[in-house]
Amino acid sequence: MLSGHESYSLAQVYTMSELDGLKLFKRIEERVAGKTGEAFFREITAGLATALDARAAFAGRLNADRTSTMLAFWLDGEYQPNATYALDGTPCEFVYKGEIRAYPRDISSIFPQDRAWFEAIGVKSYIGVPFKHETGEVFGHLAVMDSRERDWADADFDVLRVFALRSAAELERYRYEQQLEQVNAELNKEIRRREEVEKEMRAAQLVAETANQAKSVFISNMSHELRTPLNGILGYTQLLANNDGNLTQRQREGLAIIERSGRHLLTLINDLLDLAKIEAGKIELLHDDFELASLLSDIAEVTRVRAQNAQLSFRMTGVAGLPAWVHGDARALRQVLLNLLANAVKFTDGGGSVGLHAGIAKAEDDATWLEFRIEDTGVGIPAAHLSGIFEPFYRVAGSQGPIEGTGLGLAITQRLLTEMGGQVTVTSAVGRGSVFTARLPLQVVASGIVSVPSKRHVIGYVGQRLSVLVADDDATNRHMLAQFLGDLGFAVALAADGQHALDQLCAARPDLVITDLIMPRLDGMALVQAWRERELAPRLPIIALSASAGMTNRESTLAGGCDAFLPKPVDLPALLDCIEAVLGLEWTVAESAQGETSASMMEKVGCDAALVAELQMLAARGDIMTLMHRADETLARNPDTQPIYRTLCGLAEQYDMRGIRRLFEGATRSTV
Ligand code: ADP
Repeated sequence: MLSGHESYSLAQVYTMSELDGLKLFKRIEERVAGKTGEAFFREITAGLATALDARAAFAGRLNADRTSTMLAFWLDGEYQPNATYALDGTPCEFVYKGEIRAYPRDISSIFPQDRAWFEAIGVKSYIGVPFKHETGEVFGHLAVMDSRERDWADADFDVLRVFALRSAAELERYRYEQQLEQVNAELNKEIRRREEVEKEMRAAQLVAETANQAKSVFISNMSHELRTPLNGILGYTQLLANNDGNLTQRQREGLAIIERSGRHLLTLINDLLDLAKIEAGKIELLHDDFELASLLSDIAEVTRVRAQNAQLSFRMTGVAGLPAWVHGDARALRQVLLNLLANAVKFTDGGGSVGLHAGIAKAEDDATWLEFRIEDTGVGIPAAHLSGIFEPFYRVAGSQGPIEGTGLGLAITQRLLTEMGGQVTVTSAVGRGSVFTARLPLQVVASGIVSVPSKRHVIGYVGQRLSVLVADDDATNRHMLAQFLGDLGFAVALAADGQHALDQLCAARPDLVITDLIMPRLDGMALVQAWRERELAPRLPIIALSASAGMTNRESTLAGGCDAFLPKPVDLPALLDCIEAVLGLEWTVAESAQGETSASMMEKVGCDAALVAELQMLAARGDIMTLMHRADETLARNPDTQPIYRTLCGLAEQYDMRGIRRLFEGATRSTV
């Protein structure tokens, strides 16, 4: 109630009866039937103004910032735009405090800040009623204004209350509807966002899959391209080495270098393929017996050269205490150690040192855990990066300047070790260096069981002359095989593509077919299929060769009708085994000339049998240090006449156990 001003009076002349109230309620219901929101409030304000015979009526809703927004504003028969206005200083302010307010006259003077507006719409009196929640909280209101001065009667209040009651219900409903709409809109937005993200993810996945596919095809093709010429190099090398009669010692050594380099290249290609396979999540581990010291000496040789080039010292320790032969994947272990050592060299400045320490971590029933510690005195790795460096493409920025790399080495290393059942850990201090420790379980092969497969020297076969058809689009490989098989006594026919091969097969059936798989016109598998469909018994033996290891596999080739599968470059002894198996023939073998080199060398230098026996014993014990010491002593005594000790020193330095054994094989033959 406003003191100082003429306030409303509730002592009125007329009060609405219950019946009138019900009737009014019914009339309101008829007006608003089927209407909601703004349409509803328009009906209410128009109905209210008419019921009270007033100039204006409006409905409002309370906002959080103490303003009110009109829901409908009826003025003299017309709807006005819905305004939002601040409550302070208006009659509505008091309504929002929860009071029913009535001003019979002069509202322009009572609320001067809105004087202009009141005068513009031509009103003098006001009555307002709040909408309240059950809690008493006000959330909206109804107001009526008139151009007349008006002593508002109780009946007016009653009418207003009835309209307010109905309006409050609608406003509540409207509010919930709005909230629901807002929630729905947000939900829809979220759904659309999710759909967008899913679409993007599907597109990204497709791109990744396509890229991966393209990469696999590329690597597979590239491996084919690289293996094909290698096939020629390795094949001819083996072929020439077999014709040992005409070769000088130097030529033989040269051939050995070509073969070693070719094999090294082949390993590199295989490593590349491995990388692709690891990324595609399918690594095939090899399970072979291998000579540990020999593998480590190879690695040390490579690292020593790298270290020398970077002006670093390199030391390998602990090899003498390791088992001689183990069972596992030599290629994977080699790759792991070379990766870690390459990093050690790469991230160490000139003058520093790199070391590889090998040892046995623990022995279990079925496996021996080997530990390889790769240490450097290099730049080190900040602690915050220690876990990240094993992620693909992770490189520690800044510290290393323009050092080359892809950030894949450690990721491959870790995954390979995990596949082998091992793990890699790292400790590092910035500016002082790093220590990577690789541990893995390997089965130790009892040395008594191990036998180095001796290379037999096949010069022909028992029985009548047999014919072979060789189909290969690569002329070098075709002719290499032709020469190899021809030397063994086969009648060889050649075809440069599958169609040509099929024509020849139909014209004259050979005893054996050796076919490449990827060829123009008709590929190898199509050739086999076409032939198998038309051949009559007996079944023609077919050996398949393929350079693209990523695309073909043994199972599908055999299932497709071939009798054997060999990867390219063809290992000629393996091809001999294969031919022996599919044709069931017996090879004629020449006496091996192996060992002659060392034997003649030993004879030439007039070797002391007792010393040889001692060295042999030291080598068998793996006592490389004493072995080197004794060799050094002998070398110092007579540097010119004892070249074999130089060789021995070289081999011992490299921990080349296989080389040392060969040397002694020769020595034993010549001295016993
Ligand atoms: P790359 O050597 O090609 O960068 P890696 O996966 O082998 O990839 O190594 C990832 C990162 O880990 C390197 O870029 C380097 O920052 C850090 N790192 C690896 N080895 C060493 C090390 N021995 N010393 C210092 N930092 C290293």
